[in-house]
Amino acid sequence: MIIVPEREIADLMTREAAFEAVERVFAAMAAGEAYNFPVVREAIGHEDALYGFKGGFDRSGLTLGLKAGGYWPHNLAKRGVINHQSTVVLFDADTGRVHAMVGGNLLTALRTAAASAVSIRYLAREDARVLGMIGAGHQAAFQLRAALEQRRFEKVIGWNLNPEMLPNLEKVAEEAGVPFEAVELGGMREADVIISITSSFEAILGADQVSPGTHVACMGTDTKGKQEVAPGLLARAVVFTDEVAQSVSIGEAQHAVAMGLIGEGDVQQLGAVINGAHPGRRSAEEITLFDGTGVGLQDLAVASRVVELAQEAGRAVMVDF
Ligand code: NAD
Repeated sequence: MIIVPEREIADLMTREAAFEAVERVFAAMAAGEAYNFPVVREAIGHEDALYGFKGGFDRSGLTLGLKAGGYWPHNLAKRGVINHQSTVVLFDADTGRVHAMVGGNLLTALRTAAASAVSIRYLAREDARVLGMIGAGHQAAFQLRAALEQRRFEKVIGWNLNPEMLPNLEKVAEEAGVPFEAVELGGMREADVIISITSSFEAILGADQVSPGTHVACMGTDTKGKQEVAPGLLARAVVFTDEVAQSVSIGEAQHAVAMGLIGEGDVQQLGAVINGAHPGRRSAEEITLFDGTGVGLQDLAVASRVVELAQEAGRAVMVDF
């Protein structure tokens, strides 16, 4: 068995490699070559932890496995370790034998950022110049870094519930040489691309706070009850997602579907655009919205890639198992 410890991931995995892995697996999902297994998520009644598994199989790449982990809210305060914890285990699809164990914490951030970046590559207008960020927590910095590589952005605007967190975004924008400006939510009308990445349970962004032609990537809603944008925005937009079943049940589309504003059939797979089966954006006025719910196959795709990179770099730990 190959082990790639968490501490190795930062040196091995690049944003570009994560982008390619996620792009490829979204395409495989839309082609019916890869599928996610039902997600298990449990409050375990210990340390207030939420623990679960996300698994799947990609027949095209023969990637089989799962990500196990979750959220331990007291980790940082009590033990000095981060609250989100996950590990990916990959299996040999031919034999079922365990193939690799890979640290999943940084990979989760990279694959989530890669998902919105893929959506921007395929759905944002080519002339998008203003990038709007809603949320300024741990994931937001990764999202911003990956998004800035997709278009020739000239300005980043940001909003956060607690404005004192906005320097997290400003730092990333400045590193990329792009000016940053804090705005009220109404200021998001200036944005050509908006990414939301918060833990909110109620709509933050109103349907009228988005201009025609904008691409919106909703990345924070990955659980029943969470919500980042007004359901009316989904009714105004052409809606894409990683996986339709998750989008309408635990993703941003859950609310618009429950209210009858859109139906499951109105939500398209982003992979269909990658494959050329869906045209994607049809006009410069259309609002496109990507509902990034986070699927197990994304984790397996980046973990599988990092195992290859570790082997190439001679940094994979081999264990007899
Ligand atoms: P974090 O705790 O570091 O940051 C949370 C962010 O949400 C902060 O900007 C905070 O100000 C904001 N926020 C919290 N409550 C809010 C509210 N009521 N209204 C408006 N803003 C609010 O978390 P993180 O690690 O950056 O993760 C952000 C979200 O992304 C989480 O909900 C997480 O579950 C989700 N996530 C999604 C995926 C995916 O694949 N879609 C992957 C990883 C994380």
